[in-house]
Amino acid sequence: MMNDDAIAAFRASLRGELIEPGDASYEEARKVYNRMIERRPRLIVRCADVADVMAAVKFGREQKLLVAIRCGGHNAGGLGVCDDGLVIDLSRMNYVRVDPKKKTVQVGGGALWRDVDHATHAFGLAVPSGIISTTGVAGLTLGGGLGYLARRYGLTIDNLLAVEMVLADGRFVTASAKENSDLFWAVRGGGGNFGVVTSFLFKGQPVHTVYGGPMFWPLEDAAEMMRWYRDFIVKAPDDVYGFFAFHTIPPVAPFPERFHLKKMCGIVWCYTGPIKKAEKVFKPIRKKAAAIDLVGPIPHPALQSLFDGLYPPGMQWYWKADFVRTLPDEAIVQHVKHAETLPTLQSTMHLYPINGVAGRVKRGATAWWHRDANWTEVIVGVDPDPAKKEEISAWAKEYWSALHPYSAGGAYINFMMDEGEERIRATYGKNYKRLAKIKKRYDPGNLFRVNQNIRPK
Ligand SMILES: Cc1cc2nc3c(=O)[nH]c(=O)nc-3n(C[C@H](O)[C@H](O)[C@H](O)COP(=O)(O)OP(=O)(O)OC[C@H]3O[C@@H](n4cnc5c(N)ncnc54)[C@H](O)[C@@H]3O)c2cc1C
Repeated sequence: MMNDDAIAAFRASLRGELIEPGDASYEEARKVYNRMIERRPRLIVRCADVADVMAAVKFGREQKLLVAIRCGGHNAGGLGVCDDGLVIDLSRMNYVRVDPKKKTVQVGGGALWRDVDHATHAFGLAVPSGIISTTGVAGLTLGGGLGYLARRYGLTIDNLLAVEMVLADGRFVTASAKENSDLFWAVRGGGGNFGVVTSFLFKGQPVHTVYGGPMFWPLEDAAEMMRWYRDFIVKAPDDVYGFFAFHTIPPVAPFPERFHLKKMCGIVWCYTGPIKKAEKVFKPIRKKAAAIDLVGPIPHPALQSLFDGLYPPGMQWYWKADFVRTLPDEAIVQHVKHAETLPTLQSTMHLYPINGVAGRVKRGATAWWHRDANWTEVIVGVDPDPAKKEEISAWAKEYWSALHPYSAGGAYINFMMDEGEERIRATYGKNYKRLAKIKKRYDPGNLFRVNQNIRPK
């Protein structure tokens, strides 16, 4: 049992804030993005700097507390918070420094992607990330990171040059290709298993204004569009990216009123080649005559934040995911069947392509195993109303079960809720054994276990 003196000494050692149940900021501080997750930690430490992180890790270890690490709080399974234990919250450490000469970007361990996009855009650079700007840099990166730039520049981890981190024993280390290279291999896909990352060093890519946005077609055309998309995207040049989606059209501009609240299928595009060539590149795509076409030149940060408004924090989310190599016609039949029953406005299915540059990295080069998959599939039941929890969860489970037999095994760890060890092993394939060994070397006592956990072995 912690005594008050220990807590007081810990508080006195910090430049940041220590929040306890009963404090005015506690209720807000414990909340995560997915409101299906409600956890009540004993302590939340909002670290101001690396010294605070070192003090927090030491305190958590010495007091034998369950320790969760939090950056953006977006994790599917709510793994940025825990019951009773200590939350190490890095959200105050959200600096971004761009080196325009070296084209590198240094990012604090608590930053959000919108912080990075804002800072890099001024220099005509971008770091490959996801499709929503409010997600945390740390959780997304450590799990792999897939989004609009994946076909052109790879996953987020493929653009990571180094991390600085605090290990379970309190040491502060750098991991890169040259220093602690085993640790650097493991953090590129292995999640928060190995320590608290206090800073990331990324390669910035030359991305400024892209040609992108959504196109939608009626659900009656979904099977044909999905077949066309399947064949198109695996052969498309690396600078053409498009993820496939089922959505209910939100009743807001710029969507034409006649489509409001209609279930439709869509592709959200991001072309990163020369803008003057974009119209020509999109000529064959436009032959598919989308009912809604909102694609055009758009600054990269604007595309990144296009859907932020549709997905504010605080809703109920039930997540199911898989990796997918091929999309046979029978799988497409199942997809369309379940799209017809999308239960709520925000519920959706996305197929994110992870081929192109992301797919050409060798399987053993980083902890991320499924380099041969063409897509990451995610099915999410989403709604603001807690009373819809059962309905959206049942829909997502049912949909996923129908498609799972066509999947490649394993799922992107950042899209998983609590699915057990077998699923984690399937996700890492033959990389799992090496990950378990590295975990034993750097965190033998499994201090960092509020994550998709790799047991030390
Ligand atoms: C609306 C939405 C859209 C998304 N879109 C995408 C997408 O396009 N592409 C994509 O790849 N993913 C996407 N994701 C998934 C996202 O990558 C994960 O939810 C990720 O875990 C979020 O990171 P976070 O830092 O916000 O999470 P948090 O909940 O803060 O943390 C998640 C986990 O990451 C680890 N962690 C966090 N910070 C640190 C740190 N500093 N050091 C060590 N470990 C740490 C911990 O283990 C923690 O349990 C999306 C999620 C949401 C909710």
